[in-house]
Amino acid sequence: MKALHEMGVAELGRALGSREVSSAEVTKHLLARVASHQHLGAWLSVDGDNAIAQAQAADQRRAAGASGPLLGVPLAHKDIFVTSVLPTTAGSKMLEGYMSPFDATVVRKLADAGTVTLGKLNCDEFAMGSSNENSAFGPVRNPWDPSRVPGGSSGGSAASVAARLVPATTGTDTGGSIRQPASFSGITGIKPTYGVCSRYGMIAFASSLDQAGPLARSAEDCAILLSAMSGFDERDSTSANRPPQDFHAAMRRPREGASAARPLEGLRIGLPREFFPAALASDVDSAVRASLRELEKLGATLVDVSLPRTELSIPVYYIIAPAEASSNLSRFDGVRFGHRAKRHGDLLDMYKKTRAEGFGPEVKRRIMIGTYVLSHGYYDAYYLQAQKLRRMIADDFQRCFLSCDVIAGPVAPTVAWKIGGKGDDPVATYLADIFTLPASLAGLPGMSLPAGFGEGGMPVGLQLIGNYFDEATLLQAAHAFQQATDWHTHAPAGI
Ligand code: GLN
Repeated sequence: MKALHEMGVAELGRALGSREVSSAEVTKHLLARVASHQHLGAWLSVDGDNAIAQAQAADQRRAAGASGPLLGVPLAHKDIFVTSVLPTTAGSKMLEGYMSPFDATVVRKLADAGTVTLGKLNCDEFAMGSSNENSAFGPVRNPWDPSRVPGGSSGGSAASVAARLVPATTGTDTGGSIRQPASFSGITGIKPTYGVCSRYGMIAFASSLDQAGPLARSAEDCAILLSAMSGFDERDSTSANRPPQDFHAAMRRPREGASAARPLEGLRIGLPREFFPAALASDVDSAVRASLRELEKLGATLVDVSLPRTELSIPVYYIIAPAEASSNLSRFDGVRFGHRAKRHGDLLDMYKKTRAEGFGPEVKRRIMIGTYVLSHGYYDAYYLQAQKLRRMIADDFQRCFLSCDVIAGPVAPTVAWKIGGKGDDPVATYLADIFTLPASLAGLPGMSLPAGFGEGGMPVGLQLIGNYFDEATLLQAAHAFQQATDWHTHAPAGI
């Protein structure tokens, strides 16, 4: 039998089902790995005793006849989902030691499916970032090269799956924070259509963009997790009221006219020319193009499409996301949640000192940008213009989907950079979000899957974007690709 940490979600579910292993055994094995990989900086809290108790309860349920693909499977949550048993920080000093009185819907749904929560994972402060260097609790290191970033903001989630500390994790994606860390860390991740996963109990960054999703080693594992995480929630007013979906079954349903050798027969993959600019790093370009040829061999046809406002998605996102953040973060006032300055004068002074002490530099920057673009004098010039362009970007996608079923391209313009490599220039980091922001602004589902290696032996991801609520086609294409290639099975050296 394989080492326990080598098993993915589907495989582990089968081994647990056939009683080859117990959840308690796997849980203890993974807790020991978490403890011996502290140098990655990926974990903010671990509750071993409680995890073992959950695992034993799952084993007892199995012994009593219960079953399910996730019963007894260990995982961990990005520290932006509130949990009632473990502290929740959102990567911020503002919430250091904060205990939520309830569990986020995504957390509760996964617990109901029988998963075992090992702990909470490091992330950029309030999910603002692309490198996990913005956490108040230190950076996360990339298991493929610890001198590099794992991507962000779900960096702890991606690094933990890549280092085989846990078979799957949750993440959130506002402008790329599931897809980009998955790409940088050589794993698979999916951000579903806006509204598919409940945002209840997900600490809000930009509410019109925030969406939860799984990070795992394969599309199949992501499909299993997404089935359990998703679904209508009356506690989230933007939750999509649609019947529950079995993404795992949908992913395996054969396409019309397909054969074993050509499982993607009839699938039209659109390549936006703006996703392949001259400035795209050549290692990323060649890995992505090689994977497109592979998809062609599997029966897909490639068609040229255009997303003419791709570049504009950067200023549009970096107006809308900070605008919403400045409003959402006003709740951290020293009265209701978390940190309060010890020494202060009157009430206004208490607010000021609390926020000055509690928030890090990137969060402060965004609160200032957001407040500015929403201010009376600049609302029309910035915020309103950005909203108009957001609609045009979404319309551009719909024009593409007239001639293709999914859109493909790179996830990021380069492989993972060195920690500190972007210096203190926030705009340099913002620019690297160019290929993930468009789908976020449009609310479309997107995924990232391993597609090869580039400079320094670092992983390169392929991005697939689908039409609204068509996660099944994305997962189907990704699964077919992973059946025919082995990029997703590579592990970092020494892991
Ligand atoms: N990198 C983007 C940002 O900094 C996206 C972050 C995210 O998706 N949470 O806002």
